[in-house]
Amino acid sequence: MTSLKIGINGAGIGGLAAAIALRKLGMDVTVYEQAPRFARVGAAPTST
Ligand SMILES: Cc1cc2nc3c(=O)[nH]c(=O)nc-3n(C[C@H](O)[C@H](O)[C@H](O)COP(=O)(O)OP(=O)(O)OC[C@H]3O[C@@H](n4cnc5c(N)ncnc54)[C@H](O)[C@@H]3O)c2cc1C
Repeated sequence: MTSLKIGINGAGIGGLAAAIALRKLGMDVTVYEQAPRFARVGAAPTST
């Protein structure tokens, strides 16, 4: 597969999961995050 340069906006769980998956496929991925620092938001993982 051709290596693409990919930009992902947002280092949330979705952006980071996509970045990991795309890097495993050999893509050149850069994640851009607007927040000045990382911080915990929720309390615990849940599923319904
Ligand atoms: C108050 C609160 C509490 C929660 N508690 C829980 C919990 O206890 N358990 C649970 O399972 N889920 C919880 N959730 C839900 C969970 O946070 C979301 O489902 C999950 O974070 C969504 O992931 P995401 O990657 O789609 O988006 P997000 O986590 O929102 O990530 C998006 C990222 O993109 C960045 N961004 C946005 N626009 C730009 C831009 N233009 N350029 C660069 N970066 C950008 C944002 O700063 C953010 O970091 C909670 C949500 C909230 C709001």
